[in-house]
Amino acid sequence: MFLHIDIDAFFASAESAVDKSLRGIPMAVGSRSNLEIFERARSNTQLMNDNSGAFVAPVFYSERSKTFESYFVDHIGGERKIRGIITSASYEARACGVKTAMPVSQALQLCPQMIVIPSHYRLYHTMSQRLYRFMQRKIPHVEQYSIDEFFGDLKGWVADKDVYAFARDLQEEIMARFSLPVSIGIAQAKWIAKLATETAKPYGIYQVDDIDAYIEHIPIEAFPGIGKGFQKRLKEHHIRTLGELKRSRALLYRWKKPGIQLYKRVSGTDEEGISLRPPRKSIGISRTFDAIYDREEVRRRIMVMARNISYMVQQLKVNPTSYYLKINYADGRKVKKTETHLRLFSEMLYKKILINMYDMIAIEKNGAIKLSLSVSHFTSQHRKTLSLLELDRDLAAHTLSCQMQYIREKFGLDIIKTANEI
Ligand SMILES: [Mg+2]
Repeated sequence: MFLHIDIDAFFASAESAVDKSLRGIPMAVGSRSNLEIFERARSNTQLMNDNSGAFVAPVFYSERSKTFESYFVDHIGGERKIRGIITSASYEARACGVKTAMPVSQALQLCPQMIVIPSHYRLYHTMSQRLYRFMQRKIPHVEQYSIDEFFGDLKGWVADKDVYAFARDLQEEIMARFSLPVSIGIAQAKWIAKLATETAKPYGIYQVDDIDAYIEHIPIEAFPGIGKGFQKRLKEHHIRTLGELKRSRALLYRWKKPGIQLYKRVSGTDEEGISLRPPRKSIGISRTFDAIYDREEVRRRIMVMARNISYMVQQLKVNPTSYYLKINYADGRKVKKTETHLRLFSEMLYKKILINMYDMIAIEKNGAIKLSLSVSHFTSQHRKTLSLLELDRDLAAHTLSCQMQYIREKFGLDIIKTANEI
């Protein structure tokens, strides 16, 4: 049998786990778009990257303490404005209609007595890691699927008839040790177990014994991994429920690999097991902000983001050879560019490449609202695969980059900035 374990309202539950006064009341965790990195003053940003599997992005955090007023409230021309969105709400808050991704101001109108706490990603990552280590001791084959979700394969470990009791003990022990409520789905197939967790929530356990009967009336949107495009395609063929999908085998098989994979997952015949953490394939960050028309400022922000990515690249000791930049504009237009450079990575090289790319693709007199940067196609550090022409220069830049890394690891990511960031 497979288990799927999902922490209920994770960020909100994590806050309640460390502060008992938050338990049993409407409360939520909120977040503002993370624009701290662009501030010119030192924010003592640090990177938390020890969870460095591909399943969860590294987070930047600042040790500055945040209060509701300092984090969510802006004063613009004498007016007090509450910014930010809800990232996780307790079930008591959900009872008043508060939902994830709702603006904090709107949520507070629905639920004025609700307590909203600024997000502490470091706490959530630390708790998630502890829970993962605990789970590894309990279940030999366990996969961390996201920051708050785990799959366990109990075959050869717990007899099918004992799985429900095993899950109940696990749920109780996690509550006792971590003060975290989890819901657990149980099924013979991995993705059905994940679906069952939704039925189990909150703080429940649900075992699927008859997959066909269970999926019959569940809408396709509820199944993990059916994207908007696929949903539309299915609806064009009048497939609205998983039961209907299961009866459309021939159609799904005509859609080749993604269709076949989905069919197998929905019918519980995928035979997919627990996957180990795949190695990271790319490193990227994006930021959304109010439109910026000043090209210099956009360029400066790209440089700041480049510093953050460089830091991650060097911490993970990879050498990317593919560089990507995308800019979204206020009028809906977007431009993007990918370049390949078979060179030894350094922050200086990366920033030079980005400045060139930016000058090539930037649209004049248009407000940039989002920047996305990523690097990928890692080569090992074998220099043979890299260009020899610039190797001397690249090596010098690389050495300097490594020295900067050492200082940043000690004193924070923003202790050193290059001239083009200022
Ligand atoms: Mg969850």
